[in-house]
Amino acid sequence: MHEMSLTRSMVGIIEGQAATHGFQRVSRVRLEIGELSCVDPEALTFCFDAATRDTVAEGATLAILTVPGQAWCRDCDMAVPIGQRGEPCPRCGDYRLQIRAGDEIRIKDLEVD
Ligand SMILES: [Zn+2]
Repeated sequence: MHEMSLTRSMVGIIEGQAATHGFQRVSRVRLEIGELSCVDPEALTFCFDAATRDTVAEGATLAILTVPGQAWCRDCDMAVPIGQRGEPCPRCGDYRLQIRAGDEIRIKDLEVD
């Protein structure tokens, strides 16, 4: 399952941060998920609870911020909003779009005790 390996690597990053900065407990994790990343926030939250057990992030709240999809259209010469990968430009209908934002999954910040 995609979400499980994702949360495992997230926990790895959090534990690394905890070791570097010397904190014992994480109370909240803010995560940015792009609209185009195909991640199910509900499944992710579920996996997060399981993957953080016995780690510094056990019991932490997972806050998910959605990043809207955006692509660059060469024909329009501007950034256009897209809701899904493979969608055409909403202005001119061209399919040759370059994804600019919305395919990322990253930890924005951590709140520690
Ligand atoms: Zn266009």
